[in-house]
Amino acid sequence: MIGLAIAWRARARGLGVTVFDGRDPGSGASSVAAGMLAPVTEAEAGERALLALGMESARRWPAFAAELRDVTGVDVGYRACGTLVVARDGDEAEALDREVALRERLGLRTARLLPSEARRREPALAPSVRLALDVPDDHAVDPRLVAAALVLAARQAGAVLHTGAGVRSVVCDGERVTGVALEDGSVVQAGQVVVAAGAWSALLEGVPASAQVPVRPVKGQTLRLLDPSGPGLLERVLRYEGGYIVPRGDGRYVLGATVEERGFDTAMTAGAAYELLRDASELVPGILELEIEELVAGLRPGTPDNGPILGAAQGVAGLLWATGHFRNGILLTPVTADLIAAELAGEPAEHAFAADRFASPAPGPAAVPAP
Ligand SMILES: Cc1cc2nc3c(=O)[nH]c(=O)nc-3n(C[C@H](O)[C@H](O)[C@H](O)COP(=O)(O)OP(=O)(O)OC[C@H]3O[C@@H](n4cnc5c(N)ncnc54)[C@H](O)[C@@H]3O)c2cc1C
Repeated sequence: MIGLAIAWRARARGLGVTVFDGRDPGSGASSVAAGMLAPVTEAEAGERALLALGMESARRWPAFAAELRDVTGVDVGYRACGTLVVARDGDEAEALDREVALRERLGLRTARLLPSEARRREPALAPSVRLALDVPDDHAVDPRLVAAALVLAARQAGAVLHTGAGVRSVVCDGERVTGVALEDGSVVQAGQVVVAAGAWSALLEGVPASAQVPVRPVKGQTLRLLDPSGPGLLERVLRYEGGYIVPRGDGRYVLGATVEERGFDTAMTAGAAYELLRDASELVPGILELEIEELVAGLRPGTPDNGPILGAAQGVAGLLWATGHFRNGILLTPVTADLIAAELAGEPAEHAFAADRFASPAPGPAAVPAP
């Protein structure tokens, strides 16, 4: 998603663009994501810069979706549906109250709802709901439709997309990038190279040690369900301790998601399906009537501070990172594409997500051995 969106925006600035993907563009984590655009629900104390970036990207989403529809004819399923966060017991209600207080301090729009009001808005909710939080500005989109639209939009704009064309290494001449070497051994010249390889970004060869970034895979499994009788079970995104249900608005629902530190493993497990269904059906019993369409696993590109890595690589002119979007890559797609396209065109923007925040400190004076 990230690479495709950058390709589209870079073409709009008149740059020549070629995209190489080892598989089908849009088939990585982006095809597994639930598609929540949720800066308010995801807000954490101590992550103000990420919140600001997420809010800015959420603001850009309606126009981004409309532009994609205008140029490709694909409706990407942007739904201004809002989000409801619910607590199931006393402990969860206390935790939710703390979340309300944090959002109030951050000036974010939320409202505490009594269970009766929550159930009036979403009648499928179980009577066991203890407390709810209305988050009117967190919405959703269908990431698979977005990726399909971005492929069309990037191609129509003149970007060249190569599928099944894995990149083995970045090629540098001293401190300047000169292109990439593909898995098939061919070398492609380029004045600038953007690495947008998601959870695999740190595996590329040829990146000097000083320029490398700490991106790791964080596995997530989601279950896709279908209501053959159509939409209506849930209108809003529903979130709860450890999970969520995202309605697509057409009778399809995404239940997510596990968070697993298991390297590049993408096995789908019975345990994950069980946990996702157990938690979701406690709150929305009607979920158990739905048909199972798919269980999918993907790899979030995680970073040590949960923020993305955007822009110039340390010490290698022409090499840029656009990776590490962790849990919010779909949300952050519009703003990332605009920031990276601007930087490619020679207009670097100010933001808190430069790669150099992970640079190792310069070695200090040699330690004096103890007598
Ligand atoms: C279960 C789950 C739920 C999620 N839910 C949400 C959500 O609700 N909202 C949200 O905002 N985000 C969500 N995310 C996070 C989001 O999916 C990611 O942050 C985002 O998709 C990252 O996009 P990307 O383009 O960087 O990576 P990817 O989508 O993984 O794409 C990377 C691409 O790089 C290609 N590639 C890798 N290595 C190479 C190579 N050497 N050469 C060529 N190509 C290569 C891959 O084939 C792939 O196409 C979720 C993630 C998961 C796993």
